[in-house]
Amino acid sequence: MGGHPKPQEGAMNPKGVKTILAIGSGKGGVGKSTVSSNLAVALVRAGKKVGLLDADIHGPSQPRMFGLTGKPASPDGKTIIPLKAHGVTVMSIGSMLAEDKAVVWRGPMLMGALQQMLMQVEWGDLDVLIVDLPPGTGDVQLSLCQKSDVAGAIVVSTPQDVALLDARKALDAFATLKTPVLGLIENMAVFTCPHCGKDSHIFGHGGVADEAQKLGIPLLAQLPIDLDTRLGGDSGVPIATSGSAMAQSYATLADRLIQ
Ligand code: ADP
Repeated sequence: MGGHPKPQEGAMNPKGVKTILAIGSGKGGVGKSTVSSNLAVALVRAGKKVGLLDADIHGPSQPRMFGLTGKPASPDGKTIIPLKAHGVTVMSIGSMLAEDKAVVWRGPMLMGALQQMLMQVEWGDLDVLIVDLPPGTGDVQLSLCQKSDVAGAIVVSTPQDVALLDARKALDAFATLKTPVLGLIENMAVFTCPHCGKDSHIFGHGGVADEAQKLGIPLLAQLPIDLDTRLGGDSGVPIATSGSAMAQSYATLADRLIQ
């Protein structure tokens, strides 16, 4: 994160933001938003100024994951004052709409929303702005990577074959867009039974680690299936805020990225 050039002004690079980090996945439901929120909190705990842009416009989950219920203010009708929770400045289309309202938009409207969330939001001075991308390789990824100086992308996958297949496509899309890939994260890598202590590899074993090795890209973390992670996400208190082993894993991930 440290060695990248400062984003150029003019394009879709918000003023005052030092580093833009994109978190993607091939498939939905693999934990991309969970990783984004917890990594954001871990970076705050490591002393960084952190923003999180929820660019998963059709399925925004960050307001819930951060326990945000209010709407961002816009006193002049142009600039948007983002909400803040657990030390992270968060902007999500979900904060502008009722939770059960669908965003039924075509590509150009999506691009408009992304542009607004990047450029009209008062992000302030940030060391890192994490962008939680929609799953797959669509318009939002294309626009962000072409118009902003994304310092690096992280791809989250479960070890399951179908997830990996799509993760490869996401990696390929970042390569085409010349966005540096910082590494892969294997989420839901293992489930350790709280009763008998036995490990079960519910989504397969080591698939993401093998892929990272094959492609010569770093495996940044292997995160287990963890009940408290799910509960934390649903209740608006990311697990990374706690003193648990999971929080330590996110702290280690944050440290790796800061180096
Ligand atoms: P995505 O952003 O890839 O669609 P989410 O982050 O929304 O995925 O995660 C999907 C669901 O899985 C959520 O309910 C979340 O709480 C849960 N989840 C994600 N990662 C884990 C994990 N490591 N352990 C347990 N539940 C998880």
